[in-house]
Amino acid sequence: MTEEKQKRALITGVANKSSIAWAIAKSLADRGYELCLTYPNERLESRVNDLAATIPGAFTLPLDVSKDEDFEALTKELESRWEDGIDAALHSIAFANRDDLKNPFYMTGREGFAMALDISAYSFVALTRAITPLLEKRQGGIITLTYLGGQRVIPNYNIMGVAKAALDMSMRYLAAELGPKAIRVNAVSPGPMKTLAAKGIGGFNEMFNHVVQHSPLGRPITLEEVGEFSANILESTGVTGQVLFVDGGYSVVES
Ligand code: NAD
Repeated sequence: MTEEKQKRALITGVANKSSIAWAIAKSLADRGYELCLTYPNERLESRVNDLAATIPGAFTLPLDVSKDEDFEALTKELESRWEDGIDAALHSIAFANRDDLKNPFYMTGREGFAMALDISAYSFVALTRAITPLLEKRQGGIITLTYLGGQRVIPNYNIMGVAKAALDMSMRYLAAELGPKAIRVNAVSPGPMKTLAAKGIGGFNEMFNHVVQHSPLGRPITLEEVGEFSANILESTGVTGQVLFVDGGYSVVES
């Protein structure tokens, strides 16, 4: 009888207990994964360390996605700790200037535009590249978190919608290129969730209530539901290149 390999997952984007990334980390931990959680700066380091300490065997590493040297260090560290590969990886990172998420979209400046695209979309390409050899060793899967505002105009989502459109298309190109290596690349698209990042979006509460009222399920989707759905997608061996909604059905109705 061959011994089963310890499953491993890289998790970016945990800021606190209401982060979508934390819900996904917990679902994967429940399924027996060993986890590496990343933190972007010293301010978040101890918070992420405290959360990681609640999951047996989990460890943390630094990753500010605006820094190429952080990606290089991450690859090096993971290749030494997890030499024989990674099964799953999560990209759950987005950032835009607060003003760009409340002022009219046409007011978006060059710098704010470039920064939002860099942190929220390019970082997925960089992260995937950094761990491609490790994912290939285990025919692993990687997902990113996207939103309907990358497909439709949603009030105040503005530059983040443009970044999500770039993210979605990056996901498809990555899926096409990495499929022959048996690596699956997908995007999970939850409905509005009350997280730290959501607080920065102008009129978020109205958007949240609108979605709840108009979605077929007629209730908010829970973090646990997003966590379990994402873990299922990471483990689904026949799915790649898809935007998969976990939004109570909101995206299919006219509202
Ligand atoms: P969150 O604030 O908990 O997570 C955002 C994360 O991005 C944080 O952990 C933050 O540290 C990280 N981050 C920002 N800049 C970074 C950088 N330079 N380097 C590394 N990390 C950086 O909020 P969330 O809602 O859990 O967001 C996670 C993802 O889910 C985002 O991509 C977001 O757009 C997406 N999403 C959120 C919702 C929602 O309604 N909350 C809906 C759909 C999709």
